[in-house]
Amino acid sequence: MAEAAAQESAFETAQSQLRSVAKLLDLDPGIVEVLAHPKRELTVNFPVRMDDGSFRVFTGYRVHHNEARGPVKGGIRYSPLVSLDEVRALAMWMTWKCAVVNLPYGGAKGGVIVDPRSLTAGELERLTRRYASEIDILIGPNMDIPAPDMGTDARVMAWIMDTYSMHRDYSVPGVVTGKPVEIGGSLGRYEATGRGVLYVAMEACRQRGISLEGATVAVQGFGNVGSVAARLLAHAGAKVVAVSDSRGGVYNPNGLDSDSLYDHRRSGGLLVSHPRSDFPHEDISNAELLELPVDILIPAAVEGQITEANAGRLRAGMVIEAANGPTTASADAVLAERGLYVVPDILANAGGVIVSYFEWVQDLQSFFWEENEVNQRLQRILASAFQQVTAVAEERGLRLREAAYVLALRRVVEAIRVRGIYP
Ligand code: NAD
Repeated sequence: MAEAAAQESAFETAQSQLRSVAKLLDLDPGIVEVLAHPKRELTVNFPVRMDDGSFRVFTGYRVHHNEARGPVKGGIRYSPLVSLDEVRALAMWMTWKCAVVNLPYGGAKGGVIVDPRSLTAGELERLTRRYASEIDILIGPNMDIPAPDMGTDARVMAWIMDTYSMHRDYSVPGVVTGKPVEIGGSLGRYEATGRGVLYVAMEACRQRGISLEGATVAVQGFGNVGSVAARLLAHAGAKVVAVSDSRGGVYNPNGLDSDSLYDHRRSGGLLVSHPRSDFPHEDISNAELLELPVDILIPAAVEGQITEANAGRLRAGMVIEAANGPTTASADAVLAERGLYVVPDILANAGGVIVSYFEWVQDLQSFFWEENEVNQRLQRILASAFQQVTAVAEERGLRLREAAYVLALRRVVEAIRVRGIYP
């Protein structure tokens, strides 16, 4: 308990990031208070019938942080560690993320306290449909458009889309993104966040004057984001030397076979169960992975992994934050002091929400694009956002994180200003 209390919570990190950038921008304290709190929060406790006939009650959340720039958008997380505090932080980060890449959205997030791996497919479907019914009052293509996050995937999005549509008696594909392509999903959405990490890494390497080809990479978290990022970075010529999931990781200074690991993960396997004889490696813990001497470290698991305790021991040349909030505010201060180059989460992992936006646009128009077009537009938006953030950083002598926040906050505050405070 004492340890948990001492640790900085995700929402504390998010609030302290907001307040420090608000100072830089000399924002009206009233507006800062508006932004420091989510606009609305829904907690739902709901029963699900289990396969053995018993009922279990689950708790879920949906939080809208700010909708000044448009309908709100954000993923749904299934994890035993979900909490209202975490969902609030993730919703706030979505507001900044959408603003920094200039999408016409505000921020939201949702979650259910559950280990999805402990449920059967039937139980997961019933849980998802009931949760979707409970948050139905908040979601919709003009209001709040959920997407996948940790522990959820295209199948879960299909159930949410179907449940919402059943309640209305017609199909509403635009209510969620990250759906299967058969029901209005976008080509390229599955890979979008990891692909975005690749594009951001290309920009970062260009800016730092280092070659991505041959650069060594360690990736913490081998899920949707981490596994795609590792594979695409390897295809781009980088040398992925270490990857990990919740049970630990594998390391080979000469490079791992990212394709084989990717296929293994897509077939549902954890890294610890990968057929060991396939590739030479040594086992490594998550803590060890973070401290490897690599050119690029990519945290792509959960928040709060780079802490005040280990920030001083990082030996990476740069950090690209694929996860949301992987660095606590106090750890970030240590990284700043050390002058470590960090591409912040709200920019580095924005590829997912950018292609989600493309999916929503395609659904609203019932007109679908080719994958090439999706990827090219994704790269254009990310490269342009990266350059805008860099320009703010140079102009004001800031790190990329502060610069990204400055850009995002300016846009959100301007939207609030021109709309005015109701009534
Ligand atoms: P996922 O559930 O597909 O994968 C998560 C991975 O992290 C798994 O390999 C899991 O084993 C591992 N993991 C979990 N806890 C861990 C721990 N304590 N230490 C090490 N590894 C751990 O989730 P995802 O969709 O890949 O999301 C990963 C991160 O990226 C999250 O922070 C999420 O919010 C963020 N993100 C996801 C998307 C998206 O489109 N899916 C978009 C933007 C940001």
